[in-house]
Amino acid sequence: MKASLFDQEMENDFDLLKEKVISCRHCDLSQTRNNVIFGEGNRNAPIMIIGEAPGRDEDLQGRPFVGKSGQLLDKILEVCGFSRQQHLFISNIVKCRPPDNRIPTPAEAAVCMPWLINQIELINPGIMILLGATALKYMAGADYKITRDRGKWITCQGKLTMPVYHPAALLRDPSLKRDTWEDFKKIVSKYRETYDPHHYSAHV
Ligand code: SF4
Repeated sequence: MKASLFDQEMENDFDLLKEKVISCRHCDLSQTRNNVIFGEGNRNAPIMIIGEAPGRDEDLQGRPFVGKSGQLLDKILEVCGFSRQQHLFISNIVKCRPPDNRIPTPAEAAVCMPWLINQIELINPGIMILLGATALKYMAGADYKITRDRGKWITCQGKLTMPVYHPAALLRDPSLKRDTWEDFKKIVSKYRETYDPHHYSAHV
């Protein structure tokens, strides 16, 4: 496993970046994956969503957030008036599934995250959403706590960033949905402020 790829050159071509990522074997997760989950959505998306890692369904289908968590995420996004194709690009801290859906290790995150940073550079979103504790820790630092910092605007990679609970946490504890909805209302307001004052959402 390479210690770090942060000194690797940035790729300026999105298609070439995708080619490199889907053939990546820089860490041991490549040995157990079925698919590399590059991410999907609008490559010029105003909003980028960053999760933790692909799970079983994602690994099998080759797409991000397609299992139960993904279905809940899609419902939340739909209520906000956001679509994957138009408003969003969705990716993860690591792009291959950790066995048994365990949390990616710091070493795996360190090796894989340059791909994510490269994606952020090319997509250049105005707003980023971090889903859950792991995305928050690896993107913002270990001092941040999802229970304390969710719903607050922070800066990551120079981007306005909102940490929110991971949809899997909402499935485990539905009482977190109320806070999460408040957080997404802030995101819709910021999107209107930044990009489109006429953005339609039936519920915000
Ligand atoms: S997790 Fe990331 S670094 Fe590891 S093999 Fe997959 S794409 Fe490469």
